Amino acid sequence: MGEWSALAISQGVRDGELKAVEIAEETLSRIETNDPLLHAFLHVSPELALKRAAELDERIAKGEDPGRLSGVPVALKDNLCTRDMPTTAASAILDGWIPPYDATVVSRLKESGAVIIGKTNMDEFAMGSSTENSAFGATRNPHDPARVPGGSSGGSAVAVAASLVPLALGSDTGGSIRQPAALCGVVGMKPTYGMVSRYGLIAFASSLDQIGPFAATVADAAVLLEVIAGHDGYDSTSLDRQPPSLLDQLDRGVDGLKVGVVSELLEGADPAVAVQVRLAAETLANAGALVEDTSIPVLTYSLPAYYLLAPAEASSNLARYDGVRYGLRVDAPDVESMNSRTREKGFGAEVKRRIMLGTYALSAGYYDAFYLQAQKVRTLVINGFSAAYESYDLLLSPTSPTTAFPLGSRLADPLSMYLSDICTIPSNLAGHPAMSIPFGTDDDGLPVGVQLMAPALGEAVMVRAAAVLEAAESHLSGQQRRDEDEQ
Ligand code: GLN
Repeated sequence: MGEWSALAISQGVRDGELKAVEIAEETLSRIETNDPLLHAFLHVSPELALKRAAELDERIAKGEDPGRLSGVPVALKDNLCTRDMPTTAASAILDGWIPPYDATVVSRLKESGAVIIGKTNMDEFAMGSSTENSAFGATRNPHDPARVPGGSSGGSAVAVAASLVPLALGSDTGGSIRQPAALCGVVGMKPTYGMVSRYGLIAFASSLDQIGPFAATVADAAVLLEVIAGHDGYDSTSLDRQPPSLLDQLDRGVDGLKVGVVSELLEGADPAVAVQVRLAAETLANAGALVEDTSIPVLTYSLPAYYLLAPAEASSNLARYDGVRYGLRVDAPDVESMNSRTREKGFGAEVKRRIMLGTYALSAGYYDAFYLQAQKVRTLVINGFSAAYESYDLLLSPTSPTTAFPLGSRLADPLSMYLSDICTIPSNLAGHPAMSIPFGTDDDGLPVGVQLMAPALGEAVMVRAAAVLEAAESHLSGQQRRDEDEQ
């Protein structure tokens, strides 16, 4: 098998040098070998994938061009609706549900020649940072199977990190693409709010949710975002503009760009993570960027604001799981007890915690003190970013304050789990794009991710800097630093 990248595979398939069927077979065999340990997938569709790949090969033999992702295997987070596969959001309440329609991103993948391989594990309804909140068992980190992959899109991150598939989609409400990307050592991108249609994404917190790519390289992530981005009439918050052109920006470098390293987001990071962020800053400076430390004090209030707003929206969004319209029903003598018994049995502990938090924050008497106050903080965060982006093109920070933590280690203490997203949440509150790029390792060889943030619609500048970091990354791993120290 040649290079396992989306760009190389689609090129080969379109040129007739590779067969989509062989790529699909290889993918399925990698999953069969590795997934029993990793548990990245909740559902794999071998028959559908092979049939689809065969159709693509036939079309190519006839001289047709199926599109930019011809024959590329893609994994989907299990909160993206697929009409031909179950969609559970890793919740018992949706066990066995098969949606009657495809999410817009799924349709766009199909239109571009991609081969959907299956659905990936996640924290239930995307609530969590470790993929341990799945109703169907945890996912393991391929770098150390005793550790979490991050979350909530842990299955998608692992599917790419373990080279099971070259591309995967996740969703990011407070960091659920970037944080698992960081912990698994892959590229993960949260686009500008409204850049990618949310139609067919099972809603968690609708004002924050965005779908985005996982890939092993910046170029692969860029092409996947180009394919899924763009206006969609089915999502009223979809931006009415051309999808961004990213792939052709990757070689432009960072000469003359201004980059701020956000001190509030570096505070509290593990020393090994902070070292890598400093090295990333140096790398950008060596490539011609003007890099300096900057302060956005209001960002320290992002986490508490998020943990009022996101649960408030979730409590409303999850009201639809009532035993009538979807999935699970626990029978009872009257409707009200059927509703409550279904929800009692169907939702996991973290989901119930969020529904209670959110309901409380929205309730009469507490609304002003909690929900409204959090909305005001959200505005201040937006203003804080706006001020910073008057001076800087990009901001840099850790993606996560730590590397991958041991399975089980944060389950007893929700707050320590919530703190995993302290660096990623601000961009969600502002609706801005942000991405995680693997940048070296800690002393145990676990991947470190650095985060690049940009103002709304700043994806093009962001990927330019990401490409510079990616090019330097291989020279700066923790292992290499130790080797150098020993010499
Ligand atoms: N970990 C955060 C939470 O549990 C973010 C989740 C996400 O982005 N979906 O809310």
